[in-house]
Amino acid sequence: MARRPKPVPQMTIAQFEAMFPNEEACKSYLQARRWPEGVHCPRCGNTKVFPVRSMPFKWQCYACAPNQGYRFSVIAGTIFENTNKPLCDWFRVVHLMLAGKKGTSALQIQRLMGFGSYETAHSMCHKIRAALIEPEEKLGGIVEVDETYIGGKSINKHGGKSGIVGGIRGKTPIIGAISRKGNVVTRVLERVTKAAAEAFIRETVSDKVSLLATDQNRAYDDLAKYGYKHGVVDHGAKEYVVGAIHTNTIEGFWSIFKRGIVGSFHKVSAKYMPLYVAEFQFRYNNRRNPDMFDTAIRGC
Ligand SMILES: [Zn+2]
Repeated sequence: MARRPKPVPQMTIAQFEAMFPNEEACKSYLQARRWPEGVHCPRCGNTKVFPVRSMPFKWQCYACAPNQGYRFSVIAGTIFENTNKPLCDWFRVVHLMLAGKKGTSALQIQRLMGFGSYETAHSMCHKIRAALIEPEEKLGGIVEVDETYIGGKSINKHGGKSGIVGGIRGKTPIIGAISRKGNVVTRVLERVTKAAAEAFIRETVSDKVSLLATDQNRAYDDLAKYGYKHGVVDHGAKEYVVGAIHTNTIEGFWSIFKRGIVGSFHKVSAKYMPLYVAEFQFRYNNRRNPDMFDTAIRGC
């Protein structure tokens, strides 16, 4: 079987510059993605809208405002609204965030874009992350589930005053499910309890999977009860791969995520963790998407 050509999930800088030379190009691109079947009112959905003369990318809707009409622009109702940054800047930031497996931190973006304040870059990045949250489909095939902990204080690593060795105090637990050949779904949890783990798995993993592989964490003890064909790998016994039963794929994802968090993101607070997770999840799930940028803009 011939190997598929390596996909190019990311535009080069040259391609990007050629595609978006000015605001008009960005606006046309956004219009085509938002309204592939023709412009409609973002407030009421009406499709019979009227372009405002001499004001490109602005329309008027009389269905939801019969008298004076409701005027909206191409960015109305998107994350690009109510900012003083041109659409070209937004597009560049999206492009930078999608670059590379580990993304680009707000600090790097501030420097590269020449923004006066870190807050501007930070706020734009968070809005984009929220836009990257995709609807989830239940995972099938061979699925691995695992949990990890991010951040927190490291004083407990070697037994601090609290006496907790290898403690997880202050760390944010994240659980993830990954289909070996497909997508990853992750969720930030308060605590990894059996109830929370089971609720997550039942929500995200089809009970028709051919195998659900986890480690021996007690939280996964009763998955067979819900009809899952459950295989356990015992990391404690230095047992990492038993035939198809392993959790290497999800561990690979955690490793990208952790290196991204440590390497390019400073002080990720627990409050924002779901947004960071969504960003990494989006890049992973679109790794074979030939036009990741297009998909991202559609979500904005
Ligand atoms: Zn309307």
